[in-house]
Amino acid sequence: QSSNVTFPPVLDTNEQVLVNSFDNASISTWSYYYTHGAHVAGTNRTMAQWTADRWAEYGFTSRLDEYYVYLNYPVSHSLLLTYPNGSMFTPSLQEEVLAVDETTSYPNRIPTFHGYSFTGNASAEYVYVGRGQQVDFNRLKALGVELEGKIAVAKYGGPFRGLKVKNAQENGMVGCVIFTDPSDDGNMTEAKGVTAYPNGPARNPTTVQRGSVQFLSIYPGDPTTPGYTSKQDSPRADKGNSVPHIPSLPISWIDAQPILEALNGYGTAGAEVNRTGWVGAIPGVNYSTGQGAGASLSMSNIMEDKYTPIWDAIGIINGTNQDEVIVIGNHRDAWIVGGAADPNSGSAVLIELAKAFGKLMETGWKPTRTIVLCSWDAEEYGLVGSTEWVEEYIPWLKTAAVSYLNIDVAVSGPLPGIAATPDLHKISTDVMKKVIYPFHGNTSRTMYDVWMEVDGEIGVLGSGSDYTSFLHRGIASIDMGAGNGPNDPVYHYHSNYDSYHWMSTFGDPGFLTHKAMGQYLTLLAYHLASDSVLPLEPADYVPELKTYLSDLNETITSSNGTLDLSTLNSAIATFTDSAQQFNALREFAISTNDTELLTVVNHKARDFSRGFTSQGGLPGREFFQNLIFAPGLDTGYAPVTYPGITESITFRDDFGAAQDWVGKTADAILVAASMLKT
Ligand code: GLU
Ligand code: CA
Ligand code: ZN
Ligand code: ZN
Repeated sequence: QSSNVTFPPVLDTNEQVLVNSFDNASISTWSYYYTHGAHVAGTNRTMAQWTADRWAEYGFTSRLDEYYVYLNYPVSHSLLLTYPNGSMFTPSLQEEVLAVDETTSYPNRIPTFHGYSFTGNASAEYVYVGRGQQVDFNRLKALGVELEGKIAVAKYGGPFRGLKVKNAQENGMVGCVIFTDPSDDGNMTEAKGVTAYPNGPARNPTTVQRGSVQFLSIYPGDPTTPGYTSKQDSPRADKGNSVPHIPSLPISWIDAQPILEALNGYGTAGAEVNRTGWVGAIPGVNYSTGQGAGASLSMSNIMEDKYTPIWDAIGIINGTNQDEVIVIGNHRDAWIVGGAADPNSGSAVLIELAKAFGKLMETGWKPTRTIVLCSWDAEEYGLVGSTEWVEEYIPWLKTAAVSYLNIDVAVSGPLPGIAATPDLHKISTDVMKKVIYPFHGNTSRTMYDVWMEVDGEIGVLGSGSDYTSFLHRGIASIDMGAGNGPNDPVYHYHSNYDSYHWMSTFGDPGFLTHKAMGQYLTLLAYHLASDSVLPLEPADYVPELKTYLSDLNETITSSNGTLDLSTLNSAIATFTDSAQQFNALREFAISTNDTELLTVVNHKARDFSRGFTSQGGLPGREFFQNLIFAPGLDTGYAPVTYPGITESITFRDDFGAAQDWVGKTADAILVAASMLKT
């Protein structure tokens, strides 16, 4: 596909100052700094202060916001495989130390463990449970596999890892081991003749994916302060509902191989299980369910519980309109010393963004709207730093926030992607046309052209990063990042190999993708902060609400009930009408140059999406207030639309409840419509 986008892009003077300020060499310097020190949540105060200091240097007023949260840290762990004949195999539970990659041998490097995992032991026979979704466990039960009292061995991929542990626990299992599988690596595998990291772009066989096992789709943030902010003297709730009660461990595919091999020929072979993502690509393994194999695992996971400070670095430039605020966030904590992609590609970009705005302010420019930069701590444990901050500042954010822009993994490969609320669709694609995006050595295309070629669709936000707390308070949100495809170097997510060495050798040599993503975020923030007509398009919800409605109709058709959707239909019609009235009023304000009226219009655009939220939240999960989109109960990352209605059908098979949620969802859309109406 080619487009009619002008090349090179035509930029106004301010845009030029911002774009020209971006320097890939200095981004590399920021990346080097961030990727050479411990950054586990609650241990990175120096990096928080360094971040705040850089922002201050570039003209932002900066500070650290401190919260006292529950976290846990690894003390020791072990895993042992015992074969039926009594012989044993001891997985190493460690990633190989690489001579060329200094961060892998860093003193005090972080063990392989799960954040918020349960302290305990388990010794039992084990069952391979695929990707560990509820449907996988149901399939196992249909096959007659006994789960109670066994250890689950689950494959990474698909749902958020904490939900795999949750499902194992809810099926009476006593422990959970989660392994990485090379089947998710496209063409970049040793099996296809590609050399593994550090000598090539394929997956290093010893890589382990750390990560939180919080029950993300219930509520994010500190598990002991659901819905309110964590200060030193805050009352603490029982964390029992949102973290596991059984131990879990992450392992590499090389450690998983003998464990899975021991199941070959027992139970149902993987090919016959017939579930998405069940069969992987570990050599010699056929992904059998395993009953009767007689092999067992002994696991131990010891964690230290702490209530400990975490630090969000905050940087502010006040706008002339202080009741209009753009929040831009990236997390700073990582599971490892490096974290070159996650999150430091975003962190490096945010320093460069601050520098660019500093340059623009030197020309005398001031933003119309306030710009707030946030470097979140403890995202990795469960969006803790951003959630506690939103919980503290919610009255202000509800009245003043215009948008939240999230950049987590800015770069783990060359393919640009975005997910956003519909009102941000237009500005987020318009700005892509202003950025030169180097792609496979070709520097003569815009980000828009590249994006149209590799993706071309704006995603729906689910969860898994710091936009969640904003989205669920009805704040327009976008998440962005360049990822890797099946022919790009394997990204070693949450592993020691997500290092500066990997990034500068394989992920983004020359930091050119970093630069383009940074220019994109900066121009997007610039337009949101300074266009006299706030570039949010409420009317762009209309086609999306209709698409979600046809998806819902499909869900209903493939179930065995019926629903009356007339109230939802008519709410969408009313919203359509109100959005048209809004557009007409905006045209009028622009053509008459009526600045007071324009303020009214801008505030409508800022506020209407608060209407999509409901105080009581979704069934069983009060925190998730947005009735248009939510992370799927059993996906965690991937979204469901009209979640109240959809999940009453797909999870509870309860059409009475679904009918109630049709009413509540329609009401929410009507509230949003009433805010746009003129
Ligand atoms: N982004 C992190 C992950 O995927 C944290 C997500 C969360 O816990 O909500 O592991
Ligand atoms: Ca809280
Ligand atoms: Zn991240
Ligand atoms: Zn992460």
